Amino acid sequence: MVEPILEVTGLVKHYPLTQGILFRRQIGAVKAVDGVDFTLNSGETLGIVGESGCGKSTVAKMLVNLEQPTSGTIKYRGQDITELSGRALKAVRRNIQMVFQDPYTSLNPRMTVGDIIGEPFDIHPEVAPKGDRRRKVQELLDVVGLNPEYINRYPHQFSGGQRQRIGIARGLALRPEVIVADEPVSALDVSVQAQVINLMERLQNEFDLSYVFIAHDLSIVRHISDRVGVMYLGRIVEIGGDTEIYDRPTHPYTQALLSAVPVPDPEAREHRRRLILSGDVPSPTSIPSGCRFRTRCWKAQERCEREDPAHLPVGPAAGHLSACHFAEVAA
Ligand code: ADP
Ligand code: MG
Repeated sequence: MVEPILEVTGLVKHYPLTQGILFRRQIGAVKAVDGVDFTLNSGETLGIVGESGCGKSTVAKMLVNLEQPTSGTIKYRGQDITELSGRALKAVRRNIQMVFQDPYTSLNPRMTVGDIIGEPFDIHPEVAPKGDRRRKVQELLDVVGLNPEYINRYPHQFSGGQRQRIGIARGLALRPEVIVADEPVSALDVSVQAQVINLMERLQNEFDLSYVFIAHDLSIVRHISDRVGVMYLGRIVEIGGDTEIYDRPTHPYTQALLSAVPVPDPEAREHRRRLILSGDVPSPTSIPSGCRFRTRCWKAQERCEREDPAHLPVGPAAGHLSACHFAEVAA
């Protein structure tokens, strides 16, 4: 029996939209995250994919407690972390660390890499007592494939890929169980992306890590994910094992995203129907009634305007869920 390490239920983050003198009047809400459910099993990688603005970073921030949910629960090993405070919260936070999207802006340019990587030890000195810090940081540099002698250098002396290795080393410093990686390779050159993903896979085995790996593109998470959740306008519209999502997608949005991924094999390319998404993503301040995807869906019927589709199991594989009234594997 695989044990869930994270269990997210009904997660919501609405930012108030205000107007008027001193922004005192609330005129609506930005529904950044609007009811997200998923579990992360121990040792696995859950990919979360969706277009820019669909709420991925907001989910990530709630997982590591940088944002408070409007409602919903986040259970870490069975304990709701949204209700914790003080010492209990600090202990849990140590186990769930984040790697940020942009290694150019997420590292303080005035700090040496030694201080950047060792910063988490300020909050948790028990992990690395003062006299042991330098050695621990050098060990971390080595683990992510950087020369331990670089400990006194500054971020600008490193390439983008190396900077992301520094960000990963910092994420590892407290020996967490879960790493939430928010588009960790999106800001990097394509040639460097695979190196960083390979590093993350190696570290996962070495340190028994569970990953939530966020990307805006299905092709990036394909190799690393055991399961994938596809987000649209604040909600996961389809989730399943990697084979289900890539080979038997049932939600029209997943199908459209996949049809935009380049296929190297010309014969396979011939056989695939290219689905073009019409229109733009609606604003999270005015989410369409019923099914939130209906305004861009070629299958939309009158029912989709009225009824918000529930997440229902589709196909034979366990844990393959789709929120569509007309979910089916494309012919
Ligand atoms: P993604 O990471 O998928 O690109 P985000 O989670 O960053 O999406 O943002 C989701 C939506 O929430 C966007 O429309 C964004 O503008 C909005 N949003 C994010 N943070 C805030 C905030 N602090 N206040 C108001 N709106 C926000
Ligand atoms: Mg983001």
